[in-house]
Amino acid sequence: MKPPCAVFVVVCAFSVIAAAVSSSAATQPDRQVAITIDDLPAGSANSMSAATISQMTSKLLGTLRDQKVPVVGFVNERKLYKFGEVDERIKALKMWLDYGFELGNHTFTHMSLNQAGLKAWEDDVVQGESVTRLLLAEHNMKLRYFRHPYLDTGRDLETRRDAEAFLVARGYRIAPVTLDAWDWMYGEVYEDATRRGDTALQQELVRSYLSYSDQVFAYSEQLSKQVLGYEPKQILLLHANQLEADHIGELIELMRKRGYRFITLGDALSDQAYGLPDTFVGEEGAGWLDHWAITQGKPPQGAPVFPQWVIERSKAVHKPQP
Ligand SMILES: [Zn+2]
Repeated sequence: MKPPCAVFVVVCAFSVIAAAVSSSAATQPDRQVAITIDDLPAGSANSMSAATISQMTSKLLGTLRDQKVPVVGFVNERKLYKFGEVDERIKALKMWLDYGFELGNHTFTHMSLNQAGLKAWEDDVVQGESVTRLLLAEHNMKLRYFRHPYLDTGRDLETRRDAEAFLVARGYRIAPVTLDAWDWMYGEVYEDATRRGDTALQQELVRSYLSYSDQVFAYSEQLSKQVLGYEPKQILLLHANQLEADHIGELIELMRKRGYRFITLGDALSDQAYGLPDTFVGEEGAGWLDHWAITQGKPPQGAPVFPQWVIERSKAVHKPQP
């Protein structure tokens, strides 16, 4: 009687799997996200050679192109000016457009609107346009997106609104952020571990980064429903660093598992959420879910705690050498 029983088990197992697949397809939320990558050509461009920046860029963009994920990269043009490397650094930036992605402005020097005066900051915005505009024109594209460094949008409402009017007058759409797992901090520690050949620490950082990202996504989805009543087309903030170049494929896989489809920034901005009242001001920058919650008088609580050991490692990286 063995064969029929085995057949029954197989059939039964198959129908269980089929039921599970169909029910997960039915309950899988349809989530959408636009990916943005800041601090181009590289977060730590000052300590990287142009050759390393080029390798990192082609690895990062290769994965994004293979995965058919649209991206806007935000540039700090000052990082292009390293003696003897300017051409090669501009070529690394041009690669983003050659691969089919878009570039936006992130100011020339990565200047905080909360630290600088409005006029100095506006000058930094303008100075950050020249090379990017030329590269975009070569591809018949226009410079149309701006991202605030540190997400600092102004310490008072007058400055915030003046800066916004200035950006709109120059033809920009501001790129908000709703998902942010501090990959820049992981990235700094990861690059230091790479330089020292500490592969065990690199692996530990990747595990922690992916796990923390998953927590941030879950929290932000929940907060979205609380603040907006639905999950908007989200906008994820990442940074141009070696961690993303090596592991963005795993992050994309993690997001697909949460039900995300990858859309353009333009598509994301069509969500009505980005037109909601927003009177947020603060010493420190914040994501737009926080902006909306605080505007409604309901400051969010219960955000996942960033791992302290990564903060300690980051401090050690920045400690001046004796
Ligand atoms: Zn930045």
